[in-house]
Amino acid sequence: MTSSHSLREEIDHFMHGLERRNPHETEFHQAVHEVVESVMPFVMANPSYKKAQILERMTEPDRIIIFRVSWEDDEGNIRANRAWRVQFNNSIGPYKGGLRFHPSVNQSILKFLGFEQTFKNSLTGLPMGGGKGGSNFNPKGKSDREVMRFCQSLMVELHRHIGEDTDVPAGDIGVGAREISYMFGMYKRLRNRFTGILTGKGLAFGGSLVRTEATGFGCVYFCNHMLEHTGDSLKGKTCIISGSGNVATYACQKATELGAKVLTLSDSGGFVYDPDGIDEDKLAFVKHLKEVQRGRISEYVKKYPKAEFHAEQRPWGVPADVAFPCATQNEINADEARTMLKNGVKVVCEGANMPSEYDAVQEFLKAKILFGPAKAANAGGVAVSGLEQSQNQLRISWSRDEVDGKLQEIMRDIHEKCVQYGNDGNSWVNYVDGANIAGFVKVADAMLAYGVV
Ligand code: GLU
Repeated sequence: MTSSHSLREEIDHFMHGLERRNPHETEFHQAVHEVVESVMPFVMANPSYKKAQILERMTEPDRIIIFRVSWEDDEGNIRANRAWRVQFNNSIGPYKGGLRFHPSVNQSILKFLGFEQTFKNSLTGLPMGGGKGGSNFNPKGKSDREVMRFCQSLMVELHRHIGEDTDVPAGDIGVGAREISYMFGMYKRLRNRFTGILTGKGLAFGGSLVRTEATGFGCVYFCNHMLEHTGDSLKGKTCIISGSGNVATYACQKATELGAKVLTLSDSGGFVYDPDGIDEDKLAFVKHLKEVQRGRISEYVKKYPKAEFHAEQRPWGVPADVAFPCATQNEINADEARTMLKNGVKVVCEGANMPSEYDAVQEFLKAKILFGPAKAANAGGVAVSGLEQSQNQLRISWSRDEVDGKLQEIMRDIHEKCVQYGNDGNSWVNYVDGANIAGFVKVADAMLAYGVV
């Protein structure tokens, strides 16, 4: 296409080609579409990006490794799962991004996550490229020994493709401390090397303080920066949160610490609504229920009968000031976005990756509320993973305050970058444009510098 084409034509032409090259990968199309809408004007204004085909190259993963994972369940049945590692872009550092174990995992989901990760990692300011991996293995209902055998079998293949200067996986949905430990143990045995090839490790073997809390804490720090930018704060605000995993529970903890009242948490079975707020003690119960007992959120109302459980529903109909979607992708559709706006939601800050559907994002932007997109708002997790890598390379451990201080600094810098590139000139900030353009520039400039590789 020549420069005489309009912006709309350029975007449509690009998306048409991408959809043709990657048929049926709807989540990947969605993630790229959102970025291309933001960066195409920038690319058209900077002919060197266009000439070097930066967008075309940036939307093609460097490589995808696909492999079978065979394992034996407790009854002696032989099971086979599929696993992937998508090494998306290592222009600014070794590939970095989590592993997801969930029955929904497929190539489209991992490509969307790897693509987003490239921009997110760039925003942190740390030297990390983008990658993502995982398997369609379902950890739900599996025994510890089954999970161990699966993780070990997966690492028998994955160890060839990762390394502290090559690709450093971490956790994501279905992959927490237990899974990382089993995988790290197997890597160490296979390679006879003790190095930081995974992050989110236990504190006894190279993990970082604050890594577990980092995504949820960072998301709340980012939310508070958005509010402070408009002269407001989280204090006294009501919040609805989806999810009850790592991201949701630590977002709940930090929001409560900063004076907000959290009304909801959820899992795939439904959501709980507690009109009195989910305070520290109640949250300790949820963490134990989810992490140790691996139980369901519906148990909450047995312990706290003033709360309500809404089976098979999401919390977006509960009136509140702030929403933190912290469960999974595409958990808010356009109808739910309109309901939230009608109910007075003033801030949406994404703890999960791409939790808002494309049309839901457009609703939030049209209403000009404070909308913090995932790649900026949930970057705290991978940022502290980056700090874990630094500590591993230096063979030292920083204190809780040191790591938390650096996390706060990183979230403040990300907010500033978003304001720099997303300010609409009328005091409202389009954080989607801001995050996409700021994330893009660093990766694109590195790719330009390398020439044709
Ligand atoms: N899975 C997390 C994310 O979506 C963390 C990745 C990491 O720590 O490498 O950013």
